[in-house]
Amino acid sequence: MFEKIVIANRGEIALRILRACREMGIKTVAVHSTADRDLKHVLMADESVCIGPPASSESYLSVPSIISAAEVTDAVAIHPGYGFLSENADFAERVEQSGFTFIGPRSETIRMMGDKVSAIRAMKAAGVPCVPGSDGPLGADDEINIRLAHNIGYPIIIKAAGGGGGRGMRVVHSEAALLSAISLTQTEAKSFFGNGMVYMEKYLENPRHIEFQILADTHGNAIHLGERDCSMQRRHQKVIEEAPAPGISNRQRKEIGERCAQACIDIGYRGAGTFEFLYENREFYFIEMNTRVQVEHPVTEMITGVDIVREQLRIAAGETLAHQQEQIHINGHAIECRINAEDPETFMPSPGKVSRAHMAGGPGIRIESHLYGGYTVPPYYDSMVGKIIAHGDQRSIAIARMQTALSETAIEGIKTNIPLHLRLLDDCNFQHGETNIHYLEKKLGI
Ligand code: ADP
Repeated sequence: MFEKIVIANRGEIALRILRACREMGIKTVAVHSTADRDLKHVLMADESVCIGPPASSESYLSVPSIISAAEVTDAVAIHPGYGFLSENADFAERVEQSGFTFIGPRSETIRMMGDKVSAIRAMKAAGVPCVPGSDGPLGADDEINIRLAHNIGYPIIIKAAGGGGGRGMRVVHSEAALLSAISLTQTEAKSFFGNGMVYMEKYLENPRHIEFQILADTHGNAIHLGERDCSMQRRHQKVIEEAPAPGISNRQRKEIGERCAQACIDIGYRGAGTFEFLYENREFYFIEMNTRVQVEHPVTEMITGVDIVREQLRIAAGETLAHQQEQIHINGHAIECRINAEDPETFMPSPGKVSRAHMAGGPGIRIESHLYGGYTVPPYYDSMVGKIIAHGDQRSIAIARMQTALSETAIEGIKTNIPLHLRLLDDCNFQHGETNIHYLEKKLGI
């Protein structure tokens, strides 16, 4: 196992990685910006290195600074967490070229999955169900594009191959709007992502977002840990996640999960990964793969008992998977609420000093947060300050435990979205598992 690793991230995920390392006897190096000296994991790490000013572009996104931090501390591997450089193929490549282990997939895999056209092609070849579409980038021939859209059937969506963060997409409802939508999306894609390639997909009107967690080692083994439902979203940002997804049968879980695991074997995938699907009329449609640990990984950990971060570290160190597929069983139900430092009505970020922080406890409650009384939430980064995860034998128990935990949590000095979560958990349709990706925004009237 690694002797010492660099945690190239901040906030709750950096703390999560640090805790896994401590359990495994791995020494940790925390890298941080000048605004983050008081982060909980920085205070707990064996060593810490300041890598730059508050702006992420000069600290958490600075490849040379992170690699230098690994060099000066004699670390042997780098864990990128999520966000920042976690899905940057050039970073993964530089890490390995500099003689360190990147705790994640090979850079070629990250590059392939970062291009949605090549990702879809690879998944189709591996038998993963995809959204009906153009099966490749759109060319310059208008007639062919019109015919393609006609054959797929309106509405369709034009998407940038290099897109991310919910940008570079345009829905088209009729042929009259098609050609201008294609050229507009191409222009936008070129300026946002430096790659003007776009493709076409059937637009699904009211799908749910369901994703499968997989783990693959470097010895040709891959397993799936079932699925999560992340349909409760605002501006394509997930707000509440849960596992398993309500209403998915064991047969469907097995069928789609096994296809995902097989696809990992086919493409030589390494580490933890997530296959994201839209789900409508009882069918799954692959949209993209995330090649890193997800914010919502704890709900899967709670129902399977598998420690995903520990597995990431073991796989990167060349060990074989700790579990075989037959050993994975789903136990009960888990829900996660993302706690953001923001106004629960306007969603305006609310950084500042936390005068008091009292976190919830009790059966089935897990807290992943770097907050403590006296900590100041800086204004420079994502507003998520933690996650509450509630587990129970049944979904209704997990919801009730989450309601108790949210009402017991007291965070003073900053505003949080806890009141919004309480409202959502009380919602009758949510309680019956009857939501889709538009539900939350409709409920909020936006
Ligand atoms: P990104 O990488 O920008 O997150 P995704 O391909 O994951 O892009 O799509 C983001 C979101 O856009 C999806 O969660 C869904 O809400 C919507 N979307 C994408 N493709 C489709 C589609 N074919 N039909 C309906 N909605 C879609």
